Amino acid sequence: MNIQHNISLKPYNTFGIDVVATQLLPVTDVSQLAAIGEMPQPKYVLGGGSNVLFTAPPNGLVLRNELKGIKKLVEDHDSVWLEVAAGEVWHNLVMYAVEQGLGGIENLALIPGTVGASPMQNIGAYGVEVKDTIIAVTYWNWEKAQFETLNNEQCRFGYRESIFKHELKNKVFITSVVYRLNRKPVFNTSYGAIEQELQQMGAEPSVGNIAQAVINIRRSKLPDPAEIGNAGSFFKNPTIPLSQFNLLKNQHPTIPSYPVGADMVKVPAGWLIEQAGWKGYRRGDTGVHTKQALVLVNYGAATGSEIWQLSSDILASVKEKFGIELEREVNVW
Ligand code: FAD
Ligand code: NAP
Repeated sequence: MNIQHNISLKPYNTFGIDVVATQLLPVTDVSQLAAIGEMPQPKYVLGGGSNVLFTAPPNGLVLRNELKGIKKLVEDHDSVWLEVAAGEVWHNLVMYAVEQGLGGIENLALIPGTVGASPMQNIGAYGVEVKDTIIAVTYWNWEKAQFETLNNEQCRFGYRESIFKHELKNKVFITSVVYRLNRKPVFNTSYGAIEQELQQMGAEPSVGNIAQAVINIRRSKLPDPAEIGNAGSFFKNPTIPLSQFNLLKNQHPTIPSYPVGADMVKVPAGWLIEQAGWKGYRRGDTGVHTKQALVLVNYGAATGSEIWQLSSDILASVKEKFGIELEREVNVW
């Protein structure tokens, strides 16, 4: 096997953290997995590296997912089922769906990373979550040395959550995902600035136009990891009981909120962090983005530990000001 030694992972994570992997192995074929599984060292699966923070060099074998291929499994009057290899770039899949006029993932355009990571945290944006299109996820189970497939329900998807972040954490290598996309899409344009952007584009809602609107909005708001290191939202948006929210609203009348069911409320973490005074803050080469306080950034030579420390200080300060415990979304290695 083509194991590379002492390779910097800086080009392989969007935070741009410079740690050295003693062993790095590209996985280009699922037939490699059985032999890799027999190797004794701990295994770390890396997709696009857009949702990881390295706080120390990984002490084992880093596997770079390069499994490729998109296959139509089922085609009927209403839908197309696509089986997609886990190493495909997520945004390329969105563009493939756009070309075919297939709906369901257009609001998820321009999310960095791979197909294999899409079920990990049930990627979501602009009112859509990938779980609503996933039929099944197949993976290699390291302990059992076999392929297994979970259906949608078994994946236990939640808000930025799945079984892969819990019971199956570090135990599997996801090899493919089956998505069901719609020939007769139902568009979701109600979120944020999508409708406004479509108007500015002079465009009717369509799979392609919505994807383009989302691309335009994202480019205008979010830092491009090619220019400034980041991993998107560092924290999840907390969901708190309505009773707690009502008390907070008395103290902070402008606090934004989105109802979750009848008695819970989602509060944008970015607002809490901004109100706690962190937006645009810089310490050495770590910082809080100037336009979106939910995004922590690496201005160049920050270490993972420095970013971790900054995130801990933000957690403590938000807890003190609002009594809300933020949770990190980024996977820490
Ligand atoms: P990686 O960062 O490589 O890995 C993430 C975790 O998944 C790691 O723990 C890794 O071990 C595990 N993993 C990856 N692939 C596999 C596999 N095949 N098998 C088993 N485990 C695996 N996320 C959203 O949900 N919505 C957004 O709108 C969004 N916007 C973003 C914007 C920016 C600018 C950035 C930098 C990030 C954004 N993210 C967003 C976060 C990130 O893009 C997603 O979580 C993405 O799915 C991560 O994919 P990846 O391939 O880069 O995963
Ligand atoms: P935004 O539109 O400024 O909104 C701020 C937050 O409020 C969002 O996080 C969102 O929660 C919530 N929100 C806004 N409108 C909502 C609505 N109509 N219904 C329910 N919740 C609403 O956010 P943004 O930073 O520009 O991001 C836009 C979208 O891209 C969001 O969906 C965000 O999650 C996603 N995104 C995710 C990442 C990541 O790394 N996870 C990075 C960048 C952007 P939700 O997050 O639950 O949608």
